[in-house]
Amino acid sequence: MKSLNPDFASLGTTIFTTMSALAAEHGAINLGQGFPDEDGPLDIRDVAARALIEGPNQYPPMMGLPALRQAVADHDQRFYGLTYDARDEILVTSGATEALAACLMALLAPGDEVVLFEPLYDSYLPIIRQCGAVPRIVRLETPGWGIPDGAFTTAFSPATKLVLLNTPMNPTGKLFAGEELAVIARLATAHDAYVLCDEVYEHLVFDGAAHQPIATLPEMRARTLRIGSAGKTFSLTGWKVGYVSGPRDLITTVAKVHQFLTFTTPPGLQAAVVYALDKDDAYYTRLATSLQAKRDRLAEGLRRVGFKVLPVEGTYFLTVLTDGVGQSFATDVEYARWLTVEVGVATVPCSAFYAGPNPPQNMIRFCFCKKDEVLDAAIDRLASRLLR
Ligand code: PMP
Ligand code: GLN
Repeated sequence: MKSLNPDFASLGTTIFTTMSALAAEHGAINLGQGFPDEDGPLDIRDVAARALIEGPNQYPPMMGLPALRQAVADHDQRFYGLTYDARDEILVTSGATEALAACLMALLAPGDEVVLFEPLYDSYLPIIRQCGAVPRIVRLETPGWGIPDGAFTTAFSPATKLVLLNTPMNPTGKLFAGEELAVIARLATAHDAYVLCDEVYEHLVFDGAAHQPIATLPEMRARTLRIGSAGKTFSLTGWKVGYVSGPRDLITTVAKVHQFLTFTTPPGLQAAVVYALDKDDAYYTRLATSLQAKRDRLAEGLRRVGFKVLPVEGTYFLTVLTDGVGQSFATDVEYARWLTVEVGVATVPCSAFYAGPNPPQNMIRFCFCKKDEVLDAAIDRLASRLLR
């Protein structure tokens, strides 16, 4: 038989699926894969349920329900002062994962270069490579996650087509802000590059900080596509409702990819996200406050157990250094496996977010969007095995 597409045939199953399966097999508490263990608000699910029963349940418009496109435009205006025309500057997709693929395929041609930071989310590189484009990966410094000046500047070339940014960032919990965003914008503009910004964790931001889309910087709206996800904002990760906002000349081509990837997204879920996005400020504040408390609860417990906990400004992930805690292993994958099988707590080894040589081997990621009692039970397990 002839060989299959090497870009995909050579890949393993994602680390998130792998760790969830290992957790299930060994009865471990799963703080690996990122998903809340409680479903999002009942009133939102109620709207979806009614929409499914009452219909229509046929193909909705390819670009998304007009009401949802308007709701996303209103959201972008309300939170960021960004103005997009709901008719042709917003596209609804089946999750941010599809949005990312559609945007990358719309923008990239063979030979184009993409500047992006690692650690990076695992869906980015396979799609970039499938487009025949070349990733130029810039490794953020550890443990502070600063942008290395020299390496960032030299990652750009006349072939740079795109900067792919994720803020708030998975798995680091970093929020790109202020001068960092300005530098990225300056270099992108100087090289006439587009910016694709994965902002799925836009509302999961802590300590009074605010997420700032790079599209709000001067001159950046015209070259930026920004991606959001109802899965993250409303704790409904299984719904896979995402959205892209951008200037119409870019969105037009992104939509042409989308029409052949999924074409549409379930209309009942879209209708419920119209309702959800309109929630009052108290909803969005409560979401962040509640996750901030969970972050603090888990961080405090992990520190007690002996881990060095790295600062988290946003997302529902927290990374720790494993040095000197429990057994020592050559790789973080072995460490995470041991922690799952022997201690009963599943995490994600951070090397999974690296593509370059010699990734750090002393870092694991915990997901904290879990019930307090689940976080406490995980800490109890860790403490009983790791505290001597
Ligand atoms: N980007 C990042 C950084 C993520 O962590 C996730 C979460 N899975 C996604 C994109 C995908 O989001 P969605 O579930 O809406 O496809
Ligand atoms: N984004 C989620 C995480 O980082 C997982 C998504 C997935 O399982 N593909 O854990």
